Amino acid sequence: LRLADAQRRQSQIMLQGISDAVLITDGFDELLLANPAAATLFSFDLAAATKKPITMLLADKCGGNGGGPRLAADISDMRQNHARTNRRTAEYQLHSDGKLRTFSVSLSCVIDNSDQFAGVVAMLHDRTREDEISKMKTDFVSHVSHELRTPLSSIKAYAELLVDGEAQDDKTRSEFYHIIQAEADRLSRLIDNILNISRIESGMTRVHKKPVALNGLLKQVLEVAMPSARDKQITLVDQVSPVFFSVDADRDMIYQAALNLVSNAIKYTPAGGTVRVSLAAEDATNELLILVSDTGVGIPAEAMKHLFEKFYRVEQNKNMAKGSGLGLNLTQQIVEFIHKGRMIVSSEVGKGSTFGFAL
Ligand code: ADP
Repeated sequence: LRLADAQRRQSQIMLQGISDAVLITDGFDELLLANPAAATLFSFDLAAATKKPITMLLADKCGGNGGGPRLAADISDMRQNHARTNRRTAEYQLHSDGKLRTFSVSLSCVIDNSDQFAGVVAMLHDRTREDEISKMKTDFVSHVSHELRTPLSSIKAYAELLVDGEAQDDKTRSEFYHIIQAEADRLSRLIDNILNISRIESGMTRVHKKPVALNGLLKQVLEVAMPSARDKQITLVDQVSPVFFSVDADRDMIYQAALNLVSNAIKYTPAGGTVRVSLAAEDATNELLILVSDTGVGIPAEAMKHLFEKFYRVEQNKNMAKGSGLGLNLTQQIVEFIHKGRMIVSSEVGKGSTFGFAL
């Protein structure tokens, strides 16, 4: 008896360690064993559940979408038809943690040493996250191909026009060359962004952190952004504090992050507007704040939570400038993942936006 008891306790311990939900029923569709994951999923009391009919334990649990009763019916069906089949798999949608989740369910019949039916084992594996990741990967690939196709198509089209001699005069030819050059630049920026993001995400980026003078870095960003601001008649205001501020950072990456924000501010501000770049210290939090404020179109409230998603572009602002929707994702990765800083965003439609980061 002691041996049997020890063996039983051992199998219970093993069952408890399984993260998937496991239910084992006997020849009367009553619960023999279950693990805490199953008790949580179907919200029953594990200690009081043994020998209770499975139909009762699974009665309309999981948000009442019929998942529990369906499983109880499948277990019962499995017992009745064990002579024909001893393994079955299915997919269930069950409410858990406040959302509908997808479970891979496998049902197996247990046959004892004397070839007698002993029970049914039901195992439920939550594959919601795996499904989400696989969908994200598919979406990413289709987005990338789509984004690459746009500049490539125009390069191809203009090259064909030139080859076919459609550009009659030097002026038209020069215009076509410039378009091809600009689209090729866009293509290479896009590929750089994709590679940078995936390098950061896979942890393969080499980060060279050393003290960086943010004042000088921002001056350089302002200088580089000046021509495009001037082209759009946008006033670029330098509000970088004269106090010397230094921070431990990867200079190239922070430069890229700041430049992304400034070029976005210019892109999404109509002609005649103003873009201010500031650098200040926040003593209370011991942070340095880099802020880029514009008097641009602003961002609708419902778009705010998607801004940092890959390839996301605000529908209403798409026509203002070309873009891929990767800039802010890369900036966020640089600031939050590489430098453990935080992004700052606020915006009002029609008034303007402030993007920035704290290090
Ligand atoms: P994009 O290449 O489209 O500029 P980003 O990831 O840099 O991609 O930005 C994502 C979207 O956020 C942009 O398409 C734009 O709609 C919006 N956005 C970014 N910065 C601003 C800004 N300063 N003002 C208004 N909208 C902005």
